[in-house]
Amino acid sequence: MTSSGAHDRFPYLAGRVRLIYSDAPATIAINLINAAVLSFVMRGELPSPILLGWFIFIAGVMVSRAVLYARHRLAGVYSEDEARSWLLRLAILTTLTGIGWGVGCLVVMSEAPPLHKVFTAFVLGGMAAGGLPSLARVFWAYLLFVVPVLGPAIFYFAWQGGEIGWSMAVMGTLLLGFLLMTGWRQERVVLEALALAGQNRELVNSLTEEKNRALEEKGKADRLNDELLRQISDRQEIEARLSDREKILATTQRVARLGNWEWDIVNDRIISSEENNRLFGRDMTATPYDYDTVLQIVHPEDRERVDAVIREAVSGCKPYSCDYRIVLPDGSEKMVYEQADIVGDAEGRATRVLGINLDITERYEAEKELLAAKFQAEEASAAKSQFLANMSHELRTPLNAIIGYSEILKEDAEERGQLDLKPDLERINISGRHLLQLINEVLDLSRIEAGRTELHLEEIDLAALTKEIAATVRPLVEANGNRLIVDIPDEPGMMRADATKLRQILFNLLSNAAKFTERGEVRFSLSRFRDEAGAGGKEWVRFRVADTGIGIVPESLDSVFMAFERSEAGRDSKYGGTGLGLAISRHYSEMMGGAISVDSKPGEGSRFTVRLPAKAVDCRPAKVVRAGE
Ligand code: ADP
Repeated sequence: MTSSGAHDRFPYLAGRVRLIYSDAPATIAINLINAAVLSFVMRGELPSPILLGWFIFIAGVMVSRAVLYARHRLAGVYSEDEARSWLLRLAILTTLTGIGWGVGCLVVMSEAPPLHKVFTAFVLGGMAAGGLPSLARVFWAYLLFVVPVLGPAIFYFAWQGGEIGWSMAVMGTLLLGFLLMTGWRQERVVLEALALAGQNRELVNSLTEEKNRALEEKGKADRLNDELLRQISDRQEIEARLSDREKILATTQRVARLGNWEWDIVNDRIISSEENNRLFGRDMTATPYDYDTVLQIVHPEDRERVDAVIREAVSGCKPYSCDYRIVLPDGSEKMVYEQADIVGDAEGRATRVLGINLDITERYEAEKELLAAKFQAEEASAAKSQFLANMSHELRTPLNAIIGYSEILKEDAEERGQLDLKPDLERINISGRHLLQLINEVLDLSRIEAGRTELHLEEIDLAALTKEIAATVRPLVEANGNRLIVDIPDEPGMMRADATKLRQILFNLLSNAAKFTERGEVRFSLSRFRDEAGAGGKEWVRFRVADTGIGIVPESLDSVFMAFERSEAGRDSKYGGTGLGLAISRHYSEMMGGAISVDSKPGEGSRFTVRLPAKAVDCRPAKVVRAGE
């Protein structure tokens, strides 16, 4: 047995003692009533002091038991060891009770008449039997009670002898034996009941413990379950978002014809996106490809180059990009642009390559066509320039002869007085000169376009140059009834430029102004300025030709600088012209690092501005800008 009730010699003693104590009030009451009844019945048979003394003895013992009972109640729960002392104290009092009854009744029987003797024996039997249910819970306690109760009477009857005496002694002994046997059995029954109760309690305790543990486990399981459900729902949400993104990515890749891939260098495995598979015409996901297998897809002529590029990038752990052709399973080819980044470990060794492939077949084809067209165009342009150079030479020789001879003929006609021939000869001369100018301009332009024009930079005295130009154009300007105003500083200084080209630019602008202005004004001005205030800024020279002529419509302002372009008014045959002068001027200005611009209002006049560095260094392209910008 394992419960607290277990004890080697007196198992469940505390429980049994408590049970005995619980019967105390009834036992005390029965003792007092029986003692009172016996005293009352025997009042005439025994001397009063003896009877009173006996009753007082019994009552005193009962009072002691009552006190003990009260203290026991107050003691509350006690241990098995404490139970022994409670039992001992009770046993002393019950034994005293037994002695009191046994000895008291012996005295009564020795003095009383027969009927009273029988009554007394009956009371003794009742007392002995009455103590059984309560005291037999601890057998020896009952033994200590019942033997003093019945023992003296049995001895007394045996000592009396005779038929009745011996019969009573035998019956008393039998009763005592029977009561002891019953008491012994009752103690067994009580012990078994207590053992069962203990087991039950243990069972209930362990069941309760089990139940609590199970409840606790269930609580834990419920919490885990809740957490799991939450994680599952989070995961589902993330998966849904991921799948959306993947769809968007796949669509984007399909639209852009851009595939991505990853090469796990350590395990030599290539993971390819859907679009990349489509681009390469192979499912590289179902059967994982390694580096060499993918390299075999590259066109044999490009393979070595691509391999070298990738190996170099991997060994240097640096990103790379390259174009190459791939061969599809059906034998067709595609042009691919590849760009990748290398991922390295802590020691800087490449472990992965992450890359993209773009299908550039169409762009590549278009570029090829474009290059072919450009090549063709360049060839055609070169042929044209060559042709023009040759032709102009061929044309200029006879043309110079025509111009020269028409002048000689004109002089001859004047000398011979054949004045009627003069106008025709003049017409031949003017047309010849016009044709010569046209040929010269076409030649200049074709030289520019062929990149064969060179700059001859020299120091130019601006005062002398402007004076010379003004003198040259003055007759031209005044022929149309115009006034030429030259607005040049007294000491315009020097500049470094190509004098011939600068002269050609200014002459062209001034002759245009003279041509498109009638009875107006042509102003030729010059000024110097710097980019920034102070000596640090770059120095420029600005030439300006302004007229009060027909002007240019806004739509034509940009195109007048393009070859063969003329404004609507410019196309009027009365002005003549080739449409090449401004284009050549623009090229020359730009070659010297400058720019030419115009602002104009139809009917009010035009203003052309040429801006050149005071020290031109080299031929440099510059953009055409409008005046005022
Ligand atoms: P061309 O004068 O031989 O036609 P240019 O290239 O010199 O060729 O000039 C191109 C066009 O620009 C002219 O035909 C004319 O329409 C316009 N243009 C040039 N200068 C002026 C100007 N000062 N006033 C009005 N229009 C002009």
